[in-house]
Amino acid sequence: MKAAAAEDVKENLFKKVISHAKEYGFVYPSSEIYDGLQAVYDFGPYGVELKNNLKAIWWQSMTRLHENIVGIDSAIFMHPLTWKASGHIDSFNDPMIDNKDSKKRYRADVLLEDHAQALENSGKVSEANALLKTMGKLLENEDLAGLHQLIVDEKIKCPISGTSNWTEVRQFNLMFSTQVGSVAEDTNTIYLRPETAQGIFVNFLNVQKTARMKVPFGIAQIGKAFRNEIVARQFIFRMREFEQMEMQFFIRPGEEMKWFEYWKESRLKWHQVLGIPAEDLRIHAHEKLAHYANAAVDIEYAFPFGNKEVEGIHSRTDFDLKSHQELSRKKLQYFDPEINQNYVPYVVETSVGADRLFLMTLCNALTEEMSGEGENAKMRTYLKLHPALAPVKAAIFPLVKKDGLPEKARTIFDALKFDFNLIYEDTQSIGKRYTRQDLIGTPFCIAVDHQTLEDDTVTIRHRDTTAQERIPIDALKARILAEVSLSNIFSKL
Ligand code: ATP
Repeated sequence: MKAAAAEDVKENLFKKVISHAKEYGFVYPSSEIYDGLQAVYDFGPYGVELKNNLKAIWWQSMTRLHENIVGIDSAIFMHPLTWKASGHIDSFNDPMIDNKDSKKRYRADVLLEDHAQALENSGKVSEANALLKTMGKLLENEDLAGLHQLIVDEKIKCPISGTSNWTEVRQFNLMFSTQVGSVAEDTNTIYLRPETAQGIFVNFLNVQKTARMKVPFGIAQIGKAFRNEIVARQFIFRMREFEQMEMQFFIRPGEEMKWFEYWKESRLKWHQVLGIPAEDLRIHAHEKLAHYANAAVDIEYAFPFGNKEVEGIHSRTDFDLKSHQELSRKKLQYFDPEINQNYVPYVVETSVGADRLFLMTLCNALTEEMSGEGENAKMRTYLKLHPALAPVKAAIFPLVKKDGLPEKARTIFDALKFDFNLIYEDTQSIGKRYTRQDLIGTPFCIAVDHQTLEDDTVTIRHRDTTAQERIPIDALKARILAEVSLSNIFSKL
C-alpha cells in the first residue's frame, strides 16, 4: 500500500512538472496547433534561457576550467561512410516488440527494465537484479528469441491492452535518413547524426594540429542529434530530436581506466554543484557494453518515473579513430614526443543530453511549501533553481504605478540590463508579481518604494526564503553577481 502511495505521489509530481513547464513558458509540444508531433518539443521564453544557461555552464566548465579542452561545432550532415565506420549503420539498433492487441510498439529492454524497477519498488531487489543480469547477457549475445522468452516468462503485460500477446523481438535502426542531390539518379542517402561524437573524431587531427594540442586533450561539442526512438514517452526524457553535450578526451593507450575514473567523479560532482542532491544521483554500470566500449557507466537521476540515465561516461578505446583510419585511409595518429611513439589515442567520452539535464533540473527545482502562519498559511509553489541557472536573474517592481516610482525603477533596470536578464513589471499587486517570479524561479525581486526616492535604497526579496532586506541601489549589482556568477559555481568544482 505504502509503495503504491509513493508511486502515486511521484506520478503526480511528474504531471505537475509537465504542466508547469507548459503553463509558465518552459516547454511546449512541437506544432501544438496541429496536435503536436510525437517526441518533439519546443522551448519557450524561460525554457530557452534555462537551457542556454545549462549549456553555457557545461561549455565553460569544459573549455575554461581545462586548459587542454577546446571546442568545435561540426555539421549535422556527415559523409555517409562516417556511420559505416562508427558502426551505426550495422549496429545502432534497438530490440523492439509489438503488442498484437494494442498495436503498441515497445523497446524490449525498456519493458524489462521497467518490470525490474517495479520489482525493486515492491522490495524484490534480488529478483530485479537477477532479471537485469539475464537481460544484459541476452542483449550482449543479441539473443532476440531469448529476450522474447524472458518477457513471456516474466508475464509482462502491455500497459495499454493489459495482455501478453507479443510479437517476436526485432531489431530496429534508429538513424533518420534523407537524400542529398537534386535529381533522383544523383541522390545519395545521408543520415541525420545520431550523436555529435563522430564530428569530433573526424576532426581529431584538424584540431590537434591547428590548436597545437598535446595528449591528453579533449574536444567538446554541443549540438543537435536525432534518433528515431521507438518508445517516445516521458516528456522530454526521450525525444527524436534532442541536443547533446559531448566531450571526447584523447589519451595514451593504457591510461583509459585512470581517466575514466577521473571523468566519472568530475561529472558527478558537476551535477551536485548545480544543486542536484547527492542522494538523487547514482552511478550505474552498463549491463551490456556498446560495440565501441571497454568500460561504461551512466549517471542516473531519481526521476519521478524511476532512476534513469542523464549522462554516459564511456571508455571508447581506439575503436572510432581506428575505424575511421581504416575506412578513410587517412592516418589518425599522434606522435607523442614524451615517449617518442606514434599511436592512435584512446578516448574517454562524457556525453550528457541538454534536454535530459533540463528535465532533471526542473524536476529537482519544482517546490511546493506551506508559507505564512495560522489562517494565512497557504501553499507556495516556486522553482528552486540555482541562481546561475535561473532564466531571469531579477525582477524590478515599482510598488505603485505613480509618484515617479516607475521612472526610478526604469533607471535601475537600465543600469543592470547589460549584466543580467531582467524583468520589469508594474501591474497588479506586488504579492501577485512575487508569485509570478517564484513560478519561473527568479532568485531576486527588487521593489522600488517611496523611501527609494529619498535614500536610494530598495528592498530585495529572496525567492527561497521570501526574506526581504533593504540595500543601497549601488550595492545591487555586486549582491546579485555574488549569487549568479559562474565563478560562484566554478570555485566549488
Ligand atoms: P538511452 O539508454 O536512454 O536510450 P543511450 O544510452 O542511448 O540512452 P547515449 O547514446 O549514451 O544514450 O547518449 C548520451 C546522452 O544523450 C544520454 O545520457 C542522454 O542524456 C542523451 N540522450 C540520448 N538519447 C536521447 C533522446 N532520445 N532524447 C533525449 N536525450 C537523449
